[in-house]
Amino acid sequence: RIAYVNGRYLPHSDAAIHIEDRGFQFADGVYEVCEVRDGLIIDLTRHLDRLDRSLRELRMASPMAREPLKLVIREVLRRNRVRNGLFYLQVTRGVARRDHYFPAAGTSPTLTITAKSVDPQPARARYETGIKVITVPENRWDRVDIKTVGLLPNVLVKQQAKDAGAQDAIFVDAAGKVTEAASSNVWIVSADGVLVTRPAEHGILRGVTRTTVLEVAASLSVPVEEREFTVEEMLAAREVFLTSATGSCVPVVAVDGRTIANGHPGSVAAALRGAFLHIAEKTPI
Ligand code: PLP
Repeated sequence: RIAYVNGRYLPHSDAAIHIEDRGFQFADGVYEVCEVRDGLIIDLTRHLDRLDRSLRELRMASPMAREPLKLVIREVLRRNRVRNGLFYLQVTRGVARRDHYFPAAGTSPTLTITAKSVDPQPARARYETGIKVITVPENRWDRVDIKTVGLLPNVLVKQQAKDAGAQDAIFVDAAGKVTEAASSNVWIVSADGVLVTRPAEHGILRGVTRTTVLEVAASLSVPVEEREFTVEEMLAAREVFLTSATGSCVPVVAVDGRTIANGHPGSVAAALRGAFLHIAEKTPI
């Protein structure tokens, strides 16, 4: 495997950053993960738009203009011969002697990009069986709308889910409302057939897949409400599913050991997943 590190393409095993990189010391960095299917990058523009926003919100310099960045991403995918898989892109505020204040103007951001092939088969199996999740109290900071590499709460709850025999964890805020899962957005199909997901203004990351799924729902004439919902409403839903760039729409069949509907993946998630690739932007490698 080949990784891109600040202008160089290196063997993955040799790719490294300095120990005084602010990403390493302060989680002072942002990232994006983008799906690749059959040699097509999915929703690249929206991912790069969100990267720009994350950088802006943290007053971090952009490592590279949009067009050269796209060339580098495609080169990393080509060098790793990825047809189905993903790329991971990370930008940090750069290398500087440890100090909380921003480093001197002119400090170069660190840009790293890796790519890997992913076997589509396990994902397909997950769509057929669905996954189990647990709920956990929301304990993250109030800027989860920024896609930063500070993911320790997410790491801890995902492991907690695994230890409990589940696959994912859903955060629930102090008001009893669902925010999002450890690395995806949460959707329900209510008892009266309406697709419901939390507004992206507060408390969640505005998932690129979420945005595209809203368009897919409109194209299929599925009624949608962007509003908050409680755990009780989720438990009583016809369907629960999660969206993320690497997972598309993953059905949830149990929450905290309680079965959702008849315990089988629902038809709305399947229909949205089926139409997703028709609607999403597709960029050839
Ligand atoms: N929410 C969180 C906390 C995430 O980490 C992610 C993706 O990694 C998402 C939501 C889904 O975002 P996207 O659809 O852009 O992958």
